[in-house]
Amino acid sequence: MCGIVGYVGPKSTVEILLGGLKRLEYRGYDSAGVSVISDSGQLETRKRAGKLSILVEDIEKSPLHEAHIGIGHTRWATHGAPTDGNAHPHLGGESQKLSLIHNGIIENFAELKAELLEAGVSFASETDTEVAAHLIAIEFDATGDLVEAFRKVVRRLHGAFTILVVHQDQPDVVLAARRNAPLVIGLGDGENFLGSDVAAFVEHTKRAIAVGQDEIVVLRKDAVAIE
Ligand code: GLU
Repeated sequence: MCGIVGYVGPKSTVEILLGGLKRLEYRGYDSAGVSVISDSGQLETRKRAGKLSILVEDIEKSPLHEAHIGIGHTRWATHGAPTDGNAHPHLGGESQKLSLIHNGIIENFAELKAELLEAGVSFASETDTEVAAHLIAIEFDATGDLVEAFRKVVRRLHGAFTILVVHQDQPDVVLAARRNAPLVIGLGDGENFLGSDVAAFVEHTKRAIAVGQDEIVVLRKDAVAIE
């Protein structure tokens, strides 16, 4: 179980995410990755097995576009080897417009994966995590309500998890939930943060709220709802 960071606000998101992941390094990890929704509305993801510095160098060589919303992850592999493909974020749905990060273990993933395979969904990784990305994307495509899709799928998951999601079609919001795994919100002025612990955002804000078990967090730059 490693590190999670999320950000919405006016600052350069890639810098905030990589800075947060750097401060969570003490938790240990084998891979790292980020997704942002660029100012032109495009979901962009970069992920690499190995040390955070490998991801940082990759992004320095080929920068992501300017963005003001995103999520970042460090992985400690439990299902699937530490490879680039198994690193988080994982993309969901046919259109691959949803990006999800997860710390923990989804204990009923095999059952959920069987259901998705049956429905013709193809998988890009061997992780337990990817099922959640596809389920939420499919539910959102069916209903158009991302918060409800997220809530509905989180209810179906068993195990221990912190999960963060962004979707290209809802480019102003990060959704989050936790069960038996840590998640805190950092409140800023015109910007808000999520982290596995306050170390993820402590240099930006000291105002933090712990998220309760099974609460749904809807994080925007100027508002945080906990439902
Ligand atoms: N179970 C997930 C995986 O193996 C998440 C592991 C973690 O907590 O980093 O990818």
